[in-house]
Amino acid sequence: MSSERKFICVSCPLGCGLTVTLDDSGEAVKVEGNTCPRGESYARSEVKDPRRVFASTVRVSGGKLPVCPVRSKTPAPRGKLFDIARAVAGLNVEAPVKIGQVLIHNVCGTDVDIVASRDLEAAKF
Ligand code: SF4
Repeated sequence: MSSERKFICVSCPLGCGLTVTLDDSGEAVKVEGNTCPRGESYARSEVKDPRRVFASTVRVSGGKLPVCPVRSKTPAPRGKLFDIARAVAGLNVEAPVKIGQVLIHNVCGTDVDIVASRDLEAAKF
């Protein structure tokens, strides 16, 4: 017996309402409501392997600022976001930090890296 799931596409600000028809095994067999191909791939991914970009800050020692913004280099599995938040909360990096610098490789075994979102110079004493 097939079932339906409904989403709002978050791939662009238009926010199209998507309806995904699933077969008995949970596979997406039909996507409706999308007005471009990105909506279809978003819907299929959301059903099979939902992911989100993770963003937060980490503590920095010896920097001009005490924290540095970070994000996941690629979208991370939604079910791992709390574990990733805990891992990032426990991190303390030394300044200087370079934008794009990998601060945690393969965070929580997700194959996703946590990278710095900005440069952060060392403090001058
Ligand atoms: S389906 Fe296409 S147009 Fe609609 S919100 Fe998604 S990306 Fe934007």
